[in-house]
Amino acid sequence: LVTGEFGPFRQRVYDLFHYASQETGGQVAAYIPELAKADPDAFALGGCTIDGQRLSIGLNEGDETREFCVQSVMKPINYAIALELLGEEVVHTYVGREPSGQSFNEITLDRLRRPHNPMINAGAIMTSALIRPTHDMNSRFDFVQRVWRSASGGEASSFDRATFESESHHADRNYALAYFMREHGGFPEEADLFTTMELYLRCCSIQTDVRRLAAVAATLANGGVNPVTERQVFQRETVKDVLSLMLSCGMYDFSGEYAFTVGLPAKSGVSGTMMIVVPGVVGLALYSPRLGAQGNPERGVEFSRQLVRSFPWHVYAPI
Ligand code: GLU
Repeated sequence: LVTGEFGPFRQRVYDLFHYASQETGGQVAAYIPELAKADPDAFALGGCTIDGQRLSIGLNEGDETREFCVQSVMKPINYAIALELLGEEVVHTYVGREPSGQSFNEITLDRLRRPHNPMINAGAIMTSALIRPTHDMNSRFDFVQRVWRSASGGEASSFDRATFESESHHADRNYALAYFMREHGGFPEEADLFTTMELYLRCCSIQTDVRRLAAVAATLANGGVNPVTERQVFQRETVKDVLSLMLSCGMYDFSGEYAFTVGLPAKSGVSGTMMIVVPGVVGLALYSPRLGAQGNPERGVEFSRQLVRSFPWHVYAPI
């Protein structure tokens, strides 16, 4: 979007946001007790273009600046970090790149005994294991937080200790996944299961808002360079891999449906957040805690559908 087009774009996004706000179906996730406390009516959207123009909208008072946990939206970031540290070849000896066709926390591995992809829980536990496994926990988490800060345009993300603790006490399924992978010899030798789980759960509890998250999405939309600071956060090759897997696996077991109808790389999380990347154009972030049957924010999915009706951004729209 060149500067002259930003005004009409912003207006159209406002209209789509208000249209999507009429969607009131879905339920707040309850399996992590702290998440169940979220306001079901909250709705916010942030946008950041690849030339650094920004917008944010909230439906109710306080929504625009409301903080929330990133939850599964940490998955593309931990995958990106692992790629930057180890390269594509090494990372994919530990984790596949195929949609699992099953729910995000299903106890299953692919035929090479790897988690299917980095966008489901098992795969994100594995990419967490690959992030500086021999360093101590605080320095590993600081390192991840620094990447979030750079990708957010220099604005730090906080950490929601209450959600981290709440989830740590209700993480049997995630531990089961980790044990299952360890039983099959899947973890890198130097990685410890318990510290891997702690890092994974801490990353899920990174806290941000739609403004900062939109800047992260814009960093991906802009080939790894944050449009606000113009700093190279990720290599172009890393971004290509991350976006490819967001497109095929980013929306739980609605990913095929979303790729078909919306045709954009996106990632949702159980807190009700979602980031949408329009490559070469804009990064968008949404927050709406009511989730549909497949675990995606209903309003986020509705907004996405309307977005590609208004703009020719489906990956195959130019054909
Ligand atoms: N922390 C959540 C879990 O591990 C993340 C899941 C999600 O957002 O899909 O269950």
